[in-house]
Amino acid sequence: MTISVLQRVAEKPAWKVEMSKLLTDPLELCRQLELGPQDEAELRELCEPFSLRVPRPYLSRIKRGDLNDPLLLQVLPRTQELQETSGYKLDPLAEKEFTPVPGLLHKYKGRVLIVLNGSCAINCRYCFRRHFPYQEHQIGQTQWQLILDYIAGDQSINEVIFSGGDPLTSTDHSLSKKVCDLDAIPHLKRLRLHTRLPIMIPSRINETCLDWMESTRLQLVVVIHSNHAAELDDEVKAALARLGSIGVRLLNQTVLLKDINNNAGVLRDLSERLFECGVLPYYLHLFDPVQGCAHFDLDRQEALRIRNELQTLCAGFLVPRLVIEEPNEPNKTLL
Ligand SMILES: *Cc1c(COP(=O)(O)O)cnc(C)c1O
Ligand code: SF4
Repeated sequence: MTISVLQRVAEKPAWKVEMSKLLTDPLELCRQLELGPQDEAELRELCEPFSLRVPRPYLSRIKRGDLNDPLLLQVLPRTQELQETSGYKLDPLAEKEFTPVPGLLHKYKGRVLIVLNGSCAINCRYCFRRHFPYQEHQIGQTQWQLILDYIAGDQSINEVIFSGGDPLTSTDHSLSKKVCDLDAIPHLKRLRLHTRLPIMIPSRINETCLDWMESTRLQLVVVIHSNHAAELDDEVKAALARLGSIGVRLLNQTVLLKDINNNAGVLRDLSERLFECGVLPYYLHLFDPVQGCAHFDLDRQEALRIRNELQTLCAGFLVPRLVIEEPNEPNKTLL
């Protein structure tokens, strides 16, 4: 019996093991990072509506004993989350209006976004989907068929975007079946994945994953979400190199976050590191006004000033497009 259990453990891919070891206890996080005494009751209250979730590989990149570490600030809840701020909404992008079939957003011409599942390897405190009703968006077989019918019925769609949650928290078995179905729709050209997994758990990019990615006729684009160069250690670089080696185009999007990366030098270092990792900067998002996250926000003037300074610090192709997502615009709005 012990042997069969061991065998089963051995069969579990490394990334799945990491997913089962996510750090979820805020006090353990503070202990491991030597952050000193914390208000236990408050931390627990803060994690009630949106839990703490930190993968171990990410944890290892956070500086010990530094409450202002830019990686830590993305995962550790702060008191300000409890403040109600007027103008900050639960559904900032009014996404419900663009959902012709449950689980599918069709907001922009030519591409549809599929909310594959609600789970992530990390809970980012600034997440604009933190209030999203994911339970209504679990994709079962019937729903998947409705999604396929919708895409097949609209010749103007040439790109499918897998989003979430994080689409790479789905198993390769499930992903490869879905990609096979999409392959069969002739007017589709591209498949795009928006994911933080190559950063959070680099072992996610394993042979099984590369297999289905390589076997689809669709051109693959992977958009990673990195906010700071310190997230991109050599393990992450190796995972990204594996994706690059099979011809996946790699892009990055960043959210401009107060105290984390609202500084042209920090953004230059991020762009430079991304390029070393084979990734081009794509978008720099102005923060969405989501309730409980006002402390991450900065005003447009400051954002523009940072972007303009960034332009003076690095090559033009390393400057991401500064955008804001407005609920009823036909594209993300360039600033
Ligand atoms: C951001 C987004 C896209 C992709 O937009 P691009 O400008 O092509 O990156 C597509 N659909 C939805 C709903 C989006 O929010
Ligand atoms: S990985 Fe993306 S969807 Fe998941 S919590 Fe972070 S920002 Fe939100």
